[in-house]
Amino acid sequence: MISFNVPPFIGTELDYVKQAIDAHKICGDGQFTQKCHAYLEERFGAQKVLLTTSGTTALEMAAILCGLKKGDEVIVPSFTFSSTATAIVLTGATPVFVDIRPDTMNIDETKIEAAITDRTRAIMAVHYAGVACEMDTILDIAARHNLKVIEDAAQGVMSTYKGRALGTIGDFGCFSFHETKNYSMGEGGALLIRSPENNDAAEILREKGTNRARFFRGQVDKYTWVDYGSSYLPSDMNAAYLWAQLQEADRINENRLAIWKTYDEAFAPLAESGRIEVPSVPADCVHNAHMYYIKLRDLEDRTAFISCMKDNGIITVFHYIPLHSAPAGLKFGRFHGEDRYTTSESDRLVRLPLYYGLTPEDQQHVIRTALDFLNRD
Ligand SMILES: *Cc1c(COP(=O)(O)O)cnc(C)c1O
Repeated sequence: MISFNVPPFIGTELDYVKQAIDAHKICGDGQFTQKCHAYLEERFGAQKVLLTTSGTTALEMAAILCGLKKGDEVIVPSFTFSSTATAIVLTGATPVFVDIRPDTMNIDETKIEAAITDRTRAIMAVHYAGVACEMDTILDIAARHNLKVIEDAAQGVMSTYKGRALGTIGDFGCFSFHETKNYSMGEGGALLIRSPENNDAAEILREKGTNRARFFRGQVDKYTWVDYGSSYLPSDMNAAYLWAQLQEADRINENRLAIWKTYDEAFAPLAESGRIEVPSVPADCVHNAHMYYIKLRDLEDRTAFISCMKDNGIITVFHYIPLHSAPAGLKFGRFHGEDRYTTSESDRLVRLPLYYGLTPEDQQHVIRTALDFLNRD
């Protein structure tokens, strides 16, 4: 049986987790959390990074820090994970869904401006499959309409757009370190903050509404409840697991990219002949091989493909049911403009097994089985 995903494991994780335990510091913001913060800031050129309990809670923090409130609107693609929209809904604001571009499955930047109203406050750019949205256009629209930009870079750790790390381009960036992502701590994530003006507010929000972080830096002589907050900081044991992955970030990335490239070469002839479509990466974008997907003819073709792969012991998966047509999407949001690609393209997409350490033998079995199916007609 070939799994769709195996969480990354380097080998040093247990040792680091033990070190956290031995140091009698397993709550948040211990030594491993600090190491991860410093690494992520340095590696990605981020002004400030804070580990969070998930990508979802990083998105929630970003939405709250943007000051979103009831009556506000946020422009977001419908082809994304529920968390992108729930973060908006948490603040009382309304997600306004816009169509995607079929080549990258990212929000169609040319359709954003028409969806702006006098209530629009922010744009959520989701970098699907770790391939960047057209950020220059999005930043330009945001600047002209005085909107915040939140990057959902849950899938985009290690990817760049015109040389800049995803997550560092908008006002806030959100990473996920869930077990299905390129780097993992089980459940976890990070908030990236562009402007230092937001640092204090972010620390207070993350630490139950207290100025504890300032207290530890000796900037205030006691800490107290100063604003709304919640508990968004992960255990240092989880950070220890992540630290092992970050130290091997390049090795993991290179392994994933090699697997991605092997798929892409194997499927190139069928993409050429028009039997399937394969991912496209715009010239300005460097991706992180977060996923390899192919697009089949239609829903029926995809269902037959997934079932044929399963019969041969290979798990392949599809996503997302477009948010605007999902029960909560109907309740909380609305779609602006025409759904030209969101539904039809999501019906055709299937993801192939791709994880750190997928063996060449297993990958060849996936490729052979897929080609057998696809060459049938
Ligand atoms: C994984 C993911 C999230 C949520 O991250 P969690 O760490 O699982 O909470 C949000 N948005 C996108 C696009 C994702 O892929």
